[in-house]
Amino acid sequence: MHWADVEADRLDDSILIATGITPSGPIHLGSLREILTGDAIRRAKGDAKLVYIADSIDPLRKVYPFLPENYEQYVGKPLSEIPCPCGDHETYAEHFLAPFLESIHRLGVECGVLHTHEMYAEGEYEEAVRKLILNRKKVKEILTTVTGRTLKDDWYPYNPICGECGKMHAKVTGFSDPYVEYTCRCGYEGKSDIRKAEGKLPWRCDWPARWWILGVDCEPLGKDHAASGGSWDTGKLIVKDIFDRSPPNPVVYEWIQLKGKGAMSSSTGVAIKAEDMLDTVGPEVVRFLLFKYKLQTHIDIEPGLGVLDMVDEYDAWEAGYFDGSLDDDSRRVYELSQVDEIPSRQPFRVPYRHLVNLVQIYEDEEHIWRLVRDEGCTEHDKKLFETRAEQVRYWLNNFAPDMVKFSILESLPKIELSDEEREFLKRYLEEIKPEEDWTPESLHQAVHNAAEETGIKKGKAFRAFYKIFIGESRGPKLGRFLAQLDRDFVIERLEEAVF
Ligand SMILES: [Zn+2]
Ligand SMILES: [Zn+2]
Repeated sequence: MHWADVEADRLDDSILIATGITPSGPIHLGSLREILTGDAIRRAKGDAKLVYIADSIDPLRKVYPFLPENYEQYVGKPLSEIPCPCGDHETYAEHFLAPFLESIHRLGVECGVLHTHEMYAEGEYEEAVRKLILNRKKVKEILTTVTGRTLKDDWYPYNPICGECGKMHAKVTGFSDPYVEYTCRCGYEGKSDIRKAEGKLPWRCDWPARWWILGVDCEPLGKDHAASGGSWDTGKLIVKDIFDRSPPNPVVYEWIQLKGKGAMSSSTGVAIKAEDMLDTVGPEVVRFLLFKYKLQTHIDIEPGLGVLDMVDEYDAWEAGYFDGSLDDDSRRVYELSQVDEIPSRQPFRVPYRHLVNLVQIYEDEEHIWRLVRDEGCTEHDKKLFETRAEQVRYWLNNFAPDMVKFSILESLPKIELSDEEREFLKRYLEEIKPEEDWTPESLHQAVHNAAEETGIKKGKAFRAFYKIFIGESRGPKLGRFLAQLDRDFVIERLEEAVF
């Protein structure tokens, strides 16, 4: 059984699945694993709800490399109170959330969205904050026992936002319901109303509090939270002891890594933005990438040539779904990967790696379509082709290694061919002229045949073509490349070069 069905089977009916993130930087592909894990379980369960909680009241922790230097002044302020870096969004939090929410919409994720600054402002946390403060000795004991850290005797599970400087680094001095009294590092002494967004719970208390407030039954969590002594360990005790409630069903997932660079993280810049991945391969392939692996498996992403294998694998999987060669678990992976309804027949797919050449050879997309389509193609198939062609262009502009990029020279470049090269190419022309089928295999085989007959080294033989067609010493796989070009054009260009 697929893990989404296994997790769904563990849950009661009409349940709430929660996921969340702090929108402090570009939200990357790695963060999609959490929301998509929740979405897969929601789909498998049928009548479940999924909620995405943006920790918009969290403070800015430092000036990340992607921020202007003058953001130093905002460190310690809530993300919902900091201006957006580009000027187009209402707040800092929105600046990073907006593209992410757009991405999860494209991925077909159905979820409600909550912002913690609004939840605090609307008083939703009031009773939870009160319980935690009144039971702070117990909370403190859980935190120190489980984490091994020491907390001061006068510790409070609450971080007020200073009424003067707007930062979250004040020291709590007392509680007179509903006000938390504090002295700020800036010197200001004030009161924070727990019915408003004038402060927040620290993360380890906020998490169990929201399980109780919202009634969360299931929560996917990254392995950092799940580590021994981590926030899951303290959260499940706090929710039991303070809120008299069972913790949600935890679903732990592994990281997504950028191949050779480690786990994705916005703050280190080792990341691919979720929207970039969607523009490169489309939502179905992204879902597929996450659902074909077990949750405990880390996923390596290689956005260069790795993308070609990724999309090929999806196409092969899809073909297997329709020819009946997939087992039940694999069929489920395909079904969960779909954003819309599962197609009623196998879609016509032009291999991504073929399009990599075609969009570089021909500007006219209609022309490419006429070359690749077959008789049974529908308007829908054409749309799929157009979408993929656009994705390929995006990949070429953003992630493709230079070795796959080329442009066909409009006319024969001024090159000096050696006698050996000339002899070889003449022989090659004889090889291919009578050929009925203009296929990658026959065009490739002809290079070997002509090279053997004329005695030229193979590497040199291949290089001769690249010099003539793209003005480089290397290029795309030759057989397929030539097959994608117009036959008359190839022959004319070669004849012009040798005669
Ligand atoms: Zn912005
Ligand atoms: Zn202050």
